[in-house]
Amino acid sequence: MTTVQEWVQENSRALVDQLLDYVARPSVSAEGVGVVEVAHYAADLLSAAGLRARLVETPGWPAVIGHRAGPLGSRHVLVYGHYDVQPAGDEALWTSPPFRPEVREGRVWGRGAGDNKGQHLAHVAAVEALLATRGELPCSVTVLLDGEEEIGSENLDDLVRRLRDELSADVALCSDGPVHASGRSLVQFGARGVLQFELRARGAARDVHSGHFGEVAPNPLWSLVHLLATMKDPDGRVTIDGFTDAIQPLSPREREALDTLEISSEDVLADIGAARLAPGVANSVAERLMALPSFTINGLHGGYGGPGSKTVLPAEAFAKCDVRLVPRQDPDVVFGLVQEHVRRVAPDVDVYQLGGAMRPSRTPIESPLTPVVVAAVQSVTGEEPLLMPSMGGSLPTWVFTDTLGVPTFLLPLANADERNHAPDENMEVARFLQGIEISAAVLTALGAGR
Ligand SMILES: [Zn+2]
Repeated sequence: MTTVQEWVQENSRALVDQLLDYVARPSVSAEGVGVVEVAHYAADLLSAAGLRARLVETPGWPAVIGHRAGPLGSRHVLVYGHYDVQPAGDEALWTSPPFRPEVREGRVWGRGAGDNKGQHLAHVAAVEALLATRGELPCSVTVLLDGEEEIGSENLDDLVRRLRDELSADVALCSDGPVHASGRSLVQFGARGVLQFELRARGAARDVHSGHFGEVAPNPLWSLVHLLATMKDPDGRVTIDGFTDAIQPLSPREREALDTLEISSEDVLADIGAARLAPGVANSVAERLMALPSFTINGLHGGYGGPGSKTVLPAEAFAKCDVRLVPRQDPDVVFGLVQEHVRRVAPDVDVYQLGGAMRPSRTPIESPLTPVVVAAVQSVTGEEPLLMPSMGGSLPTWVFTDTLGVPTFLLPLANADERNHAPDENMEVARFLQGIEISAAVLTALGAGR
């Protein structure tokens, strides 16, 4: 009997060609380019792999769902990925055109190669490999492909609520983002949530002369500067009442996992090209990124920013901000605290929420399925994966952990330098092919006993 490993080797050429063909089809949700066409294409991919697939309409771009039942009584595994991609950006910055993918230096280069076509295609190919080598799946599999991940997955929660029975699984898997910088595999147990808002201040009805009206007309930029200074202190502590109240402390095993991640301050400084870290990082970068919330001013705008000077007193100013949330921080509650703070300190400033918020998600590292997933990954890579309690960024996996109540494991399959969202996005061919084996091993292990 052929093993999955042999099957992947024998079919490696066709598998890489499949990925190239998939990446060659733009599906830019933000710009509305090619999305519906690629939704149909993705449904065909699922069908060809042996899943019963269909498109599911949403108020935005459609989702794609495929099912195949495993042996009676086996676990039901839900695989989540997204077929939409980021805009290509300035094509001149790409070595080869973003939607004319090619293989160079052992990598597939193109928009969506790693984020996320190469990663969910590995799971779909694993279904095909398992069917080809054993005739049936070891577990029931549902693949759910989102068409709106890159624009915030605003319709995903409603979709999951609507199809709760169909999607209710024993465990969810999601492969997005890169492996550890060392190249070692990672198992991640959650993502931070995100809340975005804008503060807007108004002064005079029009920009006015700073000599004729300075200190007479109110200056909305000063209003925002004063307000923002009351929201975080110079040591990096957020000073909005109640902001940290709901935070759930790390468990001893989560803390242990954080300690093994070894994110050194020096490496971070070298990576981002900064001379010093932000205040308040204390001793653990990993803890700061995974266990605690952040409050970032994304932009502060108003008045004149062009060459030279202009003695203007601006009529309006605004600040765009985001907050990354950790478990048990509720985005609606936190936004309420922000509104209350602004009402108290600067009642003339307006606060608007931007986009839909994402809740934080977290699967307990103590889950009985953790050793099963870890052993399966190790059986392919030969190395124990690192365990990461959360990623610093945000993913809509809270719809699985919170709405469906399903333990959710993140298994990134892309190389650390995948350059997702940037020019020259790529995925290593070896990682794509190994990802198929990892997925098959995890599905097999999860199927082996309930
Ligand atoms: Zn992305």
